[in-house]
Parts: sequence; structure tokens; C-alpha cells
Amino acid sequence: MHVELHPKFADTHAGQTAKALTSACVHCGFCLATCPTYLDSRDERDSPRGRIYLIKNLLETGEAGSQTQLHLDRCLTCRSCETTCPSDMQYGELVDIGRGLMEQAAPRPLASKIQRRLLRLTLSRPQLLTWSLVVAQFLRPLLPARLRQAVPLRQVQKALPAGQRARKMLVLEGCVQRAATPNTNVAARRVLDRLGISLIVAPKAGCCGAVNYHLAAHADGLNNMRRNIDAWWPHLHDGAEAIISSASGCGAMLVDYGRLLADDPHYADKAKRVSQLSRDIGEILMDEDLTKLTVDTQVGKVAIHSPCTLQHALQQPDLIRTLLGRAGFDIATTTEKLLCCGSAGTYSILQSTISEKLREKALHALTHDQPAVIATANVGCQLHLQAAAGVPVMHWIELLDT
Ligand code: SF4
Ligand code: SF4
Repeated sequence: MHVELHPKFADTHAGQTAKALTSACVHCGFCLATCPTYLDSRDERDSPRGRIYLIKNLLETGEAGSQTQLHLDRCLTCRSCETTCPSDMQYGELVDIGRGLMEQAAPRPLASKIQRRLLRLTLSRPQLLTWSLVVAQFLRPLLPARLRQAVPLRQVQKALPAGQRARKMLVLEGCVQRAATPNTNVAARRVLDRLGISLIVAPKAGCCGAVNYHLAAHADGLNNMRRNIDAWWPHLHDGAEAIISSASGCGAMLVDYGRLLADDPHYADKAKRVSQLSRDIGEILMDEDLTKLTVDTQVGKVAIHSPCTLQHALQQPDLIRTLLGRAGFDIATTTEKLLCCGSAGTYSILQSTISEKLREKALHALTHDQPAVIATANVGCQLHLQAAAGVPVMHWIELLDT
């Protein structure tokens, strides 16, 4: 697809990068068959190809109307289209750039600006989020049913391992995960401890940057990344082997640090190193001897939910199934190949109607074999599915912590 850049983008890095990315698309339309929003609306503008055309139009005219905003906002950034595309189209990178340019070309109504600002402020601050959740959990019985379902129950935490192991890895605790499902990080520590690995938390590290970056607040997102690199760098010098994430959404952001900070002379090399060392916890366990764990596999059938960030961004579609299969769990069958569950970061809040339809489809596929539990790898998907599932939804690492 050829793009003639509008003069205002011609000399910009964003414009040139978007032009190069757009040129990979050959309009074949193969991606339409795996795009959840196109399959829902059958509107070309809700498809990857349609959105690429909308971004091309923005790049050529320098303008974006409310329709461009609507259809780019409706994209889940699930990146299913990237996996399908025979031309290796890097759609996720393009849509992030397109959204950034769109924010300048088509200012949002005030209410939308405030909503997005509030989401960025709360979701990227673990302390604030934790306290907000404590209040919501206290008021939970008084809330209307719909809101009540969205507030996760308070988890009773298991004991953390005592002492230090010879091998050390940094852990990104996440924002929502730390507040809403702290047992995921506890289970990660307990399981890795049994394998001879201690997890270290760098106190000054915080949000991975995904919330800000994917809501088109690119400068704030990049600053989140720089802060994390500064917090982790001394530990990497001291021999930490890797930076572990147990939320695949955060892990997908970490592997992009190198690309996103490539033009920052102070951080480019460090960011590249951080991306090289970042691993989903499942990738670590794939290289370890799981027979050292004593696991209770008698929980009944386990349905596997592989989040989009694990499937398409980290390119590990079978990671959970392989690990739980190796550990001896009875894996439930699903009716179809899973598309996005509709969680997609802040999408479940900002596009709740489409999000709920996608969740219904995902749960239909996941529960067809009557599983006792659904295992996922990302806290956003976990909370979103749990709000409507009739069975427990948990991070798969909790199943190994028995
Ligand atoms: S599959 Fe790839 S090349 Fe084909 S239309 Fe979609 S994005 Fe473009
Ligand atoms: S990222 Fe997902 S929702 Fe967005 S265009 Fe691609 S397949 Fe469709």
C-alpha cells in the first residue's frame, strides 16, 4: 500500500515509520477472518485492512474525523491480524502510531478525555489502585449486580518463601495484578523457589507503561519504561538472570522497550538489554525440571485460555497447554480457536458492549467441555472472564502451587 505523506508528517519519525509499516500491506484481506471486531460487525472499517486504510488517509490528509476515531478505538490491539498476515504486517506498531497522530488530529470530547485520563491515573499506580480496590471490595455487597461482578473478591495470601536462593531473577509485579490478584505473584515466588530461583522486586519499578502507551499517552508510557530500566539496571549488574512477568500483557510491553526507546541516546542500549532479558514466567518454567514440584493435578478438567498477548505478541500460543500438560493436568477441549476475550486492557471499560459479546463467545468456547477451572496468563483476561464465568478463573501458575 503506497502512502504520500502529508507535509506535516513528512519529516517526522512517526510519519516515516507509519509509511514504511503501511507499505507492507498488500490488501489481500486474509486478516479479516481472524479479526474479532470485523467478525462481529462485518464492517470493513472494523477490520485490520480497513483500519490500515483509515491510518493511510490520516497520513495523507493530516486529518481524522469521528469515524476514524470510532473504528481505531474499536480495535482491541489483540494482534491476531499480525499472526494471520502473510506479509508480516506489524499492525500493532502501526495502530499505536496511528492512534497517537489521531489524538492530535481529532481532539476528543471532554468527557472522553477525562475518562481516559482517570484510567491512566488509576490503573498505572499500584498503590492508588490497591486502595481503590479495598474500598470497592468493602462496598461490594451494596453494589448493583453488574458492578459487583466486576469487583474481584479479596484473596487470602499464602506464605512467601523464606530465605534466598542462589539464582535470582527480577519480577515485574504489575499494577492491576498486584492489587486484584496478589496470589499470582505469591504463587510465582513459591514455585520458582522450589526450583532454586528467588524473585527480586525493585522497589522503584512500577507500571510497565502499557496503560499509558496504548491510550496514546506515548510520552508518559516511555517515562514509565525509563523509570523501570533505572530501577532494574543495578540488579541486572548484580547478576539477576532475567526480568519475569506473570501477566502476559506486561510481558508484551517489556519485549517492546528496545524498539520504543531505540532513538533515546541515554536509554537505547539499556532498553534493548531489558527486552532481551524479559521472559514470561512460563518461558522460564519450560527450561526447568518440573518433576521437582509436587503438584495436585486432581482439580478436574482445566480449560486453557491463551491471552492474545501470549499468542500474538509473545508468540507463545501453546505455552500454558504444554506446561500444564507436562505437569499432568487433564486439559479440557474447546470448541474453536480462541479469539480475543474482549478484555484488552482498558477496552472492557471503554468499549463494554463489544467486549461483553466477545467474552460470551470466549466463555462458550472455553466451557464446552465442562471444565472445573479456566487457566489464563493475564490478569486483565482473568478478571474479565471471571466476572461472567460459572467456574473459577485463575492464573495457571496457581495450579502449580499446591
Ligand atoms: S493480511 Fe496483511 S497484507 Fe493482507 S490485508 Fe491484512 S494486513 Fe494487509
Ligand atoms: S488488532 Fe485485533 S481487533 Fe485490531 S484489527 Fe487486528 S485483529 Fe482486529
